[in-house]
Amino acid sequence: MGLFTAKRTRRRIRDDGSLIVLDKVSKSYETGAPALNGVNLRVKRGEFVFIVGDSGSGKSTLIKLLLRELVPTSGTILVNGQNVAHLKRRQIPRYRRKLGIVFQDFRLLKDRNVYENVAFAQRVIQVPTREIKRNVPAILATVGLAGKYKAKPKQLSGGEQQRVALARALINKPPILLADEPTGNLDPKNSWEIMKLLEKINEGGTTILVVTHNREIVNEMKKRVITMKKGVIVSDEEQGGYIDEN
Ligand code: ADP
Ligand code: MG
Repeated sequence: MGLFTAKRTRRRIRDDGSLIVLDKVSKSYETGAPALNGVNLRVKRGEFVFIVGDSGSGKSTLIKLLLRELVPTSGTILVNGQNVAHLKRRQIPRYRRKLGIVFQDFRLLKDRNVYENVAFAQRVIQVPTREIKRNVPAILATVGLAGKYKAKPKQLSGGEQQRVALARALINKPPILLADEPTGNLDPKNSWEIMKLLEKINEGGTTILVVTHNREIVNEMKKRVITMKKGVIVSDEEQGGYIDEN
């Protein structure tokens, strides 16, 4: 046992109440340069953060580390004070319930209608059907899809499909929402609608991290902007804008 204790000597990480803390986080895949290289980041409860940067700069790796799909090669990630790398396998599903996640490609169940796609997230955590019947219409109304609950994904526009994905991500009321290029497949109008929806959800108290390439939206929304390059955070600005390369 003594051996294990000795191995576990770790640096104390300042706890300033941040909801998300990355302390000197690096992640290397088997090949290539490190995808993340010594990233320090603190996100407070209730913040709205854009993460921008070239393709390959490590944005999705950061999201996957927060989801605990990956563990850091070195460094520490705390979410709500919990060291994510120390979670046991059986604790991971419960941990992930704190995180809503939205992807560029929606990832809906194609053979299920809107209602079922959203209800599914509640069924897996065994919410009683009676409550699901109340919760799903309420969240669909929030995302502006009240009339569409019987539609299948392919009968919906991209913007509508992303709203379904958002409803599914939010129905269990996670304190954190992660969005990895949520408007990557949408036209400008739908992109704005999704971002405005994210802003509204953030105003309700949800902490939001959004990876995006949409410079117009980033420049106009005046949120915190983190810019990544080759696995490092090269800028982190309150009410920032999209930093032009070249
Ligand atoms: P971004 O989301 O900013 O485009 P990623 O986090 O996906 O960047 O990738 C960062 C770097 O890590 C890139 O060089 C990418 O090629 C590499 N990478 C990502 N995933 C893997 C993987 N599963 N195996 C090996 N290399 C990977
Ligand atoms: Mg990516």
